[in-house]
Amino acid sequence: MQQVSDSSQSPGYDPAPTSSRGLIVDRIRSAGTLSRVELTQLTGLKAPSVTAVVRRLIDDGLVAETGRGASTSIGGKPRTLLQIRAAARYVVGVHLSEDHLTYVLVDYAGGVVARWRRDGPGDDSDPEQVVARVAIETGELIASSGVDPALVLGLGFVCPGPLIRNRGVTSAPPSMTRWVGFPIRSRLEERLGMPVLLENDATAAAAGTRLTTSHDVSVMAALFMSEGIGSGLRLNGNVYQGAHGNAGEVGHICVQIGGPRCWCGGTGCLEALAGPAAVVAKARAAGLDLGSHRHSGVAAFAAIARLALSGDSRAEAIIRDSAAWIALGAQTIANMYDVQLLVLTGPAFAVAGTIYLPILQERILSSVFGRSVGTKVVLDERGHDAAAIGAALMMLKSEHAISA
Ligand SMILES: [Zn+2]
Repeated sequence: MQQVSDSSQSPGYDPAPTSSRGLIVDRIRSAGTLSRVELTQLTGLKAPSVTAVVRRLIDDGLVAETGRGASTSIGGKPRTLLQIRAAARYVVGVHLSEDHLTYVLVDYAGGVVARWRRDGPGDDSDPEQVVARVAIETGELIASSGVDPALVLGLGFVCPGPLIRNRGVTSAPPSMTRWVGFPIRSRLEERLGMPVLLENDATAAAAGTRLTTSHDVSVMAALFMSEGIGSGLRLNGNVYQGAHGNAGEVGHICVQIGGPRCWCGGTGCLEALAGPAAVVAKARAAGLDLGSHRHSGVAAFAAIARLALSGDSRAEAIIRDSAAWIALGAQTIANMYDVQLLVLTGPAFAVAGTIYLPILQERILSSVFGRSVGTKVVLDERGHDAAAIGAALMMLKSEHAISA
């Protein structure tokens, strides 16, 4: 097998922890509380190793003993439970889109302690100005939360467009052409003075989607819609990123031969036919009043969704047409990956998901592959913030956060 030194070229389930310390922290964080015996069973590590690593984590202030659970054997000793010390460390997640900059501050247990949504930089944004702004606003977010800045380990940054994780975007939607080739990660690290992890928006959203206990799933996919359309796959708690960070680009599968040209270079792409920009263009052509929204981003799409939800039949027909196309993408994901659950997330689904959901669900159940296993479609309750939260959680699972 060929060895490559550039970690951006490593395919797989990054950032699945590889060290025993990382594995143990990750398991306790996922479960909430665990005993040493359960950690031995879940990680496959030997009991003395678990004991030694847990001791160091307690000494470092990252894990605490908390009460006792029932014994696992009749007459046995009650188990001492371990949990993450939430206030031990923090990470920041930032989601950049044309219309919004979303910030979250996440504690070491994975809980969101602060969130901000600010107006985005708009189209044709200057990456240097955006990086400078993100650095200032990140500092303000941390200061306003009262968290000691020294406890903030790093930042996960999410943006649209094909990317190479260690470098930046390799091409970009029309609104972000100046970002192509810009070294986002290194420039942010210079400005912030902390490690930065760069991630694709849909992949991060798959990591940030919250599943309720009623969703006992090991294989789920997130269908993400912001300015563009993408998807992320989550397997046993880890997201699949692909070789460079671009897995799941469902918005750029061709669903219409000879269809409209797409910014990606293809024609007939799902995104070009049914994404928010296409919906906005159709609404404008139909003469719908979109208020002050000049651009074709999520804000204008949201205005159409609100019209549709308030009973405007022309707006509803345009959104339902978009949903019929996007249902093809949803069905493709379900058929390709045999998922138990498809979660609709991202700012566009956060405003219009109730129209899309039944159409996507019906399409998936129309096929024997979805019908026989009952693949379920649900709306993410935190769709606006899922990408920012996911970026923070992925930073939390990285070696930067584990060695801290
Ligand atoms: Zn395309």
